[in-house]
Amino acid sequence: MSRVAIVGCGVVGAAIAYELSKIPHLSVTVIDPQPAQASTGAALGILMGVISHKIKGKAWQRRWVSLQRYETLIPELESQTGQQIPYNRQGLLKIYFTPEEQESWENLVTVRQSQNIPLELLSARDIESRYPQLNTNAIAGAVFSPRDRQIHPSRLTQTLMEAAKQNGVTFHIGVAATDFDCTTDQQNRKTCTKICTSGGSIEEISTDWLVVAAGLGSTPLTRHLAATTEIHPVLGQAIHLRLSNADSLSHGQPEPVITGDDMHIVPLGSGEYWVGATVEFPDEAGTPPEEDTQKLQLVTQQAFDLCPELANATITNTWSGLRPRPQGRPAPIIEKLAGYNNVILATGHYRNGVLLAPATALEVRGLLVGE
Ligand SMILES: Cc1cc2nc3c(=O)[nH]c(=O)nc-3n(C[C@H](O)[C@H](O)[C@H](O)COP(=O)(O)OP(=O)(O)OC[C@H]3O[C@@H](n4cnc5c(N)ncnc54)[C@H](O)[C@@H]3O)c2cc1C
Repeated sequence: MSRVAIVGCGVVGAAIAYELSKIPHLSVTVIDPQPAQASTGAALGILMGVISHKIKGKAWQRRWVSLQRYETLIPELESQTGQQIPYNRQGLLKIYFTPEEQESWENLVTVRQSQNIPLELLSARDIESRYPQLNTNAIAGAVFSPRDRQIHPSRLTQTLMEAAKQNGVTFHIGVAATDFDCTTDQQNRKTCTKICTSGGSIEEISTDWLVVAAGLGSTPLTRHLAATTEIHPVLGQAIHLRLSNADSLSHGQPEPVITGDDMHIVPLGSGEYWVGATVEFPDEAGTPPEEDTQKLQLVTQQAFDLCPELANATITNTWSGLRPRPQGRPAPIIEKLAGYNNVILATGHYRNGVLLAPATALEVRGLLVGE
């Protein structure tokens, strides 16, 4: 048996734990003081793969692998655990507001056609007839992506944890990694042998492999490994809305996620919606900004302008979270830590951690067992 310790159990750590739990010769342990909260607990769960302008290389591959894996992962998890995971299969409607944008969307549709992936351009008139709940006055056009999805991030994470646990993974909840013991070989390469913890149910964990999936917590952890990976927080605020008559905006028609300029309307069923999220950057030192209520109001107003009926809804909750954004390099970071034989980083997923969690888990499995 090879022992694998995963530090961090947001959606990324949980997806890795589940994927590794299916490999018979691995013994997997996960530690996290508060799983399924942090960035994952604040996310809207939109899986924007096909609609993204990423068309080649790893950035596209990871998105497409994830979208495909989600289609098998959700029924797999639901049948194993008996738990339902809210998963919107009605696609994603991306609105654009200036005619100049049309060409780039036409190009994307052509690329996706060549990849045999459906993506449809809609005129303002098409939108009017298909989505009467939308105010088309300021709209130049839209793109409908039937293969994109949305999922409930914390419910997904909890279900991944449950399935992993049933498959034999050990979870130490309420426990944080504080430091590591490492050895150095004659080639000056290091091997992490032990995780020191904050106590709780376990004081140290001996391991053959260490996977750092700690989001923003990855920066202090890699500092302890003398290989600091800078990840800064980008604040996002969002709201939960409820229509008084429990009816949907589309009055029974299928409801895709609707997205505009960084404004997303996520239907949850029974007249409930999430709307968000602001994108608020930290200062140079990486200190996140204070929550700016005006920025949240602006996003909310954009949603009301696009979908006037929403203005009649009650705001039942507002929240914020911090997205883990790598500094000086693209997101995410999925690789072996330089100078180490047995440390894997799976972190810095910034705005797409929920989307990319399944592909990340498969990639980590590949790094560990060479598939
Ligand atoms: C408002 C908002 C909206 C978003 N919307 C979307 C979206 O629609 N689609 C999408 O794909 N993504 C979205 N994201 C981004 C997404 O939430 C993140 O990319 C994703 O959650 C990152 O997952 P993670 O598991 O790496 O990090 P996290 O969820 O932050 O989890 C990291 C975990 O590590 C643990 N940890 C930290 N330090 C230690 C330590 N020393 N020891 C043990 N454990 C530790 C923490 O407790 C935490 O549980 C959104 C984010 C925000 C804030």
